[in-house]
Amino acid sequence: MHLERETWTDAEKSEAEVALLPVGSTEQHGPHAPLGTDTLDAEAVAEAGADRYDDPVVVAPAIPVGIAEEHRRFSGTLWTTESTFRAYVRDVVGSLASHGWDRVVVVNGHGGNIAALREVTARIVRHDDAYAVPFTWFDEVGEHSSEMGHAGPLETSLLRHSDPETVHEDRLEEAAEGGSDRWGDWQGRVNLAVDSDEFTDNGVVGDPRESSAELGEELLDRSAEALCDLLDAVRERDPGPRE
Ligand SMILES: [Zn+2]
Repeated sequence: MHLERETWTDAEKSEAEVALLPVGSTEQHGPHAPLGTDTLDAEAVAEAGADRYDDPVVVAPAIPVGIAEEHRRFSGTLWTTESTFRAYVRDVVGSLASHGWDRVVVVNGHGGNIAALREVTARIVRHDDAYAVPFTWFDEVGEHSSEMGHAGPLETSLLRHSDPETVHEDRLEEAAEGGSDRWGDWQGRVNLAVDSDEFTDNGVVGDPRESSAELGEELLDRSAEALCDLLDAVRERDPGPRE
């Protein structure tokens, strides 16, 4: 059940115990993929997980702006501070819980959101009337997780399968040429860079020419399956608070 397409009277009848909250970002994804890549990919994974899950699941509207200041030099990138982001996610989870959907999986599409989501979901579990846990789709695709990059083969593939009209396939060559093969500017194990334009000219990390709709289908399949397994486990958790 996608909340934004339902009436409140139908939402009231929902027997769902669990909810998915997609969280993305609006940030540069090279010359070939849209600013909303992370949001579109998170929504696709949440939708696929809810579709294949045996019991009803509420899918909340996606949160489209996250922690992305590192991409500020690239036009169109939007961001919020970590404290604003955490507070907003906490409020949205709290409102889902107030309707009885008090176990929430935050389906994340952006690496920059991970640390803040860990912190806020722990805070929710400890202190609020809900259980929440983050799920980052590209960490859940087996051996492919190591190919992540930025606007590279993974994200581009998922888009080419789920939202193909948003990808400029005629720019993949250009995207690869102006990109970098590694995230960051490293001295030993220390990343000296704070913004992505310090190590990639066009915003890309990785080679999006290695993307395909077939790989995207596989990534969606694997992440949706992992999400369903997680939903099974999350339903067994007690909603907080843990006092
Ligand atoms: Zn991304």
